[in-house]
Amino acid sequence: MEERFDFVIVGGGHNGTTMAAYLAKSGASVCVLESRPECGGGQENTEPKPGFRIDPHATYLYGGAAPGFEQLELHKYGFRFVPYRSMFGFATSDGKAVNLGGRWDRQLGEQSVAAVAPPGASNAMRAFEVLEGEPTAEFLRSMFWTPPHPAHMDLEPGDLPWAQTLRKHLGAAFSETFLDMSLVEFFDGMGAWEPAAVANSFAAWYCGAHPAWEGQALPSLGGLMLVGYTSGSPRGGMHTYAHSIIRCALAHGARIITNSTVEEIVVRNGRAVGVVMSDDASVSEKTVWADKAVISAVDVTQTFQSLIGRGHMDAGFAQRIDDINFKGGSLYVLSVVCRELPRFHNDPNSFADDVYPSCLVYPSDSWENFFKQTEDVYSRKVVPKLEKEHLSMMICTHDVYDTTRSPDGYRILSPIYVQIPPTHYDVAGPDGLNRMKEDFTKAVLELLAEGAPNMTGDNIVDVFVNTPYDSEFRNPGMIAGNWYGIRQSEDQWFMNRPLPELARYRTPIDGLYLCNHTSHPGGLCLMAVPYNLMHILIEDDLVEPGGWWYPSPWYIPENGNKATA
Ligand SMILES: Cc1cc2nc3c(=O)[nH]c(=O)nc-3n(C[C@H](O)[C@H](O)[C@H](O)COP(=O)(O)OP(=O)(O)OC[C@H]3O[C@@H](n4cnc5c(N)ncnc54)[C@H](O)[C@@H]3O)c2cc1C
Repeated sequence: MEERFDFVIVGGGHNGTTMAAYLAKSGASVCVLESRPECGGGQENTEPKPGFRIDPHATYLYGGAAPGFEQLELHKYGFRFVPYRSMFGFATSDGKAVNLGGRWDRQLGEQSVAAVAPPGASNAMRAFEVLEGEPTAEFLRSMFWTPPHPAHMDLEPGDLPWAQTLRKHLGAAFSETFLDMSLVEFFDGMGAWEPAAVANSFAAWYCGAHPAWEGQALPSLGGLMLVGYTSGSPRGGMHTYAHSIIRCALAHGARIITNSTVEEIVVRNGRAVGVVMSDDASVSEKTVWADKAVISAVDVTQTFQSLIGRGHMDAGFAQRIDDINFKGGSLYVLSVVCRELPRFHNDPNSFADDVYPSCLVYPSDSWENFFKQTEDVYSRKVVPKLEKEHLSMMICTHDVYDTTRSPDGYRILSPIYVQIPPTHYDVAGPDGLNRMKEDFTKAVLELLAEGAPNMTGDNIVDVFVNTPYDSEFRNPGMIAGNWYGIRQSEDQWFMNRPLPELARYRTPIDGLYLCNHTSHPGGLCLMAVPYNLMHILIEDDLVEPGGWWYPSPWYIPENGNKATA
């Protein structure tokens, strides 16, 4: 029997499954092919020790403003959210512990900053307080849930959708200079207290565009605002979010086949018409045909380097794919089972248990420390440094607010993230860091114990490590263990991501579309790539959703112009 569907989706990660839910809800026949035994991709939960639930990759919900929650009605399919009273904080090596609270408790942050920061220092994040609530959602949707404009259209930076929304909400406080700045320059300009600005910059680095990239202040700030707007996570971990999406897709009739690696996207006369799976795929018919389109929800590099094959591309395009850069975004991930939370500087009042920041940066001292780590991560060929001044960590503790994550009497610091150079550019080879795992883990734990002396001896029950190289083994889509897929700079953002000719999710192959975090808006489980791609598929007459669908108000159709946008 021939297997035929309107759409065949390669890869059942966050973006592939969300795309399936959107298309199936629109009445199309859809098949998702996933290599691993489980769908979800980076939205994974594991239990390395019975009762302790960790997220080896994605951990925070950044997608609170996503239209997908309403459009796909994920609450009907089991999605549950836990709001965190304190989302973020930081500690310095000279003894300060600052709890910045979060969306659900602003006062906490204000009191803590007022008690510790020097008089006159501004909390730079408050500059955008005016964007509280709906205006924040509007700003975020204009940045993340809007397809890039057509390549032939030369928009001025001030016309970009997020510049328009920010101008509307900030009024006279908006300055065109924001568009050229880096986030670091922005914080400097606001007279921000250095440790707070450094902490927010570290956080921004884990949320999107690097804070030091010129012209990326707003995208970088947007990443921070995504997590601040949501201020919480799915109950039980990120995989429960994936389950609600998968259940939604299945309920609308999508077919999902696991244990089935796609080896080839079949191209005939310049058109993608189906896919071929490996011999050991879990179905008897190894070829599946796509009547309308093949959607590649795996990374852009694999899509063109191995699934399509060079015979179908011109040499210049193939070279540009080879040149795509992975620098920035590779994370060394630790999970530490302990009996009590870190007490910074042995101070029992440094973060009370019931308002402990779910995520905190340590140490957050100076720009010097921040730039040393940046230099390590972005250098051409490096070995990760073990010196403490090159390290800073992001410690996440979901179980303070979500009691499903660890058994009574225990805590789990998970994940603890450290930004490191991508494995692909390690002078010792991609497995170089794996050979230093013990030393690197020891250095991170020693640094933590310097700040929080209780993080030693009996308090530490177990430690689990996931290096970027391990991430590639866990999930073949996590190239270089890079949470952002590819680089986070201006040349790989919005209409340049991953290449200008691919930015609208179409490809030089007819009937082949891209839907992975290597397309705009990049990493994170935002349901944004599928939402954005829906605009293009509708425009190409491939899908016709019902009354539940609404497009981005900033979307510019291919033949549109700024006036009709
Ligand atoms: C350490 C780390 C921390 C992160 N933290 C967060 C966070 O806190 N919050 C957040 O929202 N995001 C986070 N992310 C990013 C997030 O995980 C990704 O952006 C997201 O998973 C991307 O989804 P995707 O569907 O594009 O790709 P993936 O999740 O990688 O899914 C791709 C899928 O395709 C499958 N596949 C690959 N090749 C084939 C093939 N040939 N045939 C069939 N199937 C194939 C893979 O098995 C995988 O299931 C993090 C990522 C990492 C690595």
